[in-house]
Amino acid sequence: MKSNIFSSRALFIFLAGLVVLSSVWILFVCLENENPSIKIETPSMTMAIGPSKNLLISVSDGKRGLRKILIAIVKDGKESILIDKEYPSGGFISGGKVNQDNISLSVEPKKLEITDGKAVLRMTAWDYSWQRWWNGNITTVEKEVVIDTKRPDVSVLSGIQNLNQGGSGIVIYSLSEPCEHNGVYAGGNYFQGYNGFFNDKNIYISFFALEYNKGPGTEVFVEATDDAGNSIRRGFKVFIKAQIFKKDSINISDGFLNSKMPEFNVEASKDSITPLADKFLKVNRDLRAENYNKITEIVKNTEKTPLWEGVFVSFPNAKKMAGFADHRDYNYQGKHIDSQVHLGIDLASVANAPVPAANRGKVVFAGDLGIYGKTVFVDHGLGLFSAYSHLNSFDVKEGDIIEKGGVVGRSGSTGLAAGDHLHFSMLVNNIFVNPLEWWDATWITNNITGKIQAVKSGSN
Ligand SMILES: [Zn+2]
Repeated sequence: MKSNIFSSRALFIFLAGLVVLSSVWILFVCLENENPSIKIETPSMTMAIGPSKNLLISVSDGKRGLRKILIAIVKDGKESILIDKEYPSGGFISGGKVNQDNISLSVEPKKLEITDGKAVLRMTAWDYSWQRWWNGNITTVEKEVVIDTKRPDVSVLSGIQNLNQGGSGIVIYSLSEPCEHNGVYAGGNYFQGYNGFFNDKNIYISFFALEYNKGPGTEVFVEATDDAGNSIRRGFKVFIKAQIFKKDSINISDGFLNSKMPEFNVEASKDSITPLADKFLKVNRDLRAENYNKITEIVKNTEKTPLWEGVFVSFPNAKKMAGFADHRDYNYQGKHIDSQVHLGIDLASVANAPVPAANRGKVVFAGDLGIYGKTVFVDHGLGLFSAYSHLNSFDVKEGDIIEKGGVVGRSGSTGLAAGDHLHFSMLVNNIFVNPLEWWDATWITNNITGKIQAVKSGSN
């Protein structure tokens, strides 16, 4: 009998323990009160939804698991459901089978018959908790959005464009709404437009360029894209004047290579019969390309306002040795070994002559630049740059503001230069342009300042 009493007491303790444990389990596991989490993962999620917008939303519930997600757009009191998804249960005891889900949605307002204007993106998630009489914890996230399926408008204000192959130009245009992406495409190259130059903040100016190898028939147009992704292109009248560039032949001597190649850190292959010429090819091709990548980096940031004024000045008392876009054939021991295009103007004065800044600007680079030797880049604002190469020494450093005629350095023959001369080049963004235009006061008046003035006085 005693043992019977003992065993019923044990059973009682066991059952009581079970009740306590299951109560604890129900209280802390089944009745957990942690809400599911909802996060918008779309990169650079702006408030604007255009004709088609991809939304990436992650939803998770670390405890009992996800029960349901409902995502909708609410506009003028009307709810348009984007997704209504139920997640499987693992049974009454174990809760939901899914703890995390990434949802990718494509929102197309026209298909959903949602009109333009302010709306709310409403996202609600439930979990498998026993909270709220087995309905689960609930999370609602609301985000205000703007439905915008209307394209921006562009009006070109600057009239007809005369453009030289390898030349520069400007387009002035107004936008019907702010567009971060707005500018000119010329032969596939993009040139950002800037506002703030005119009193009217909707008026933008873009300095652009036509590459030396892009002639008549090249596509030139303005493009603008608003925050919602609505895009417009507007063409305008362009007259492109073809240019014929000079052909030049350069004989590469062993004397030149012997004196120049040590400056460059290149190696010819061990079995090379003409190691000097092979080194030269590496410099003239690979290093040239590498230097161009660096130039593209240098010109990435530009002042948002023009720093220059009037005609650009040249290197005084200098003789022109080579022109812009001269096509050069390189011969070694009577054999053609390479061809390159010379995208600047070579000017020779006396050795170590002071080199003036062509116009006012900000020094954005003063250092060694491979084939160009010691080089200074001056930013004149809105993507216009001048560059001074093969210098012997510098008179400026990065960050300096230099006035027109201020000395940037002394001429020399650093880099791939045979004798003391200045290699002067001009660029719009990373596109080399013909400096002759910028040295010509009449060209500047007709093609740049005159156009700006016409828009400013509204007489266009
Ligand atoms: Zn040159």
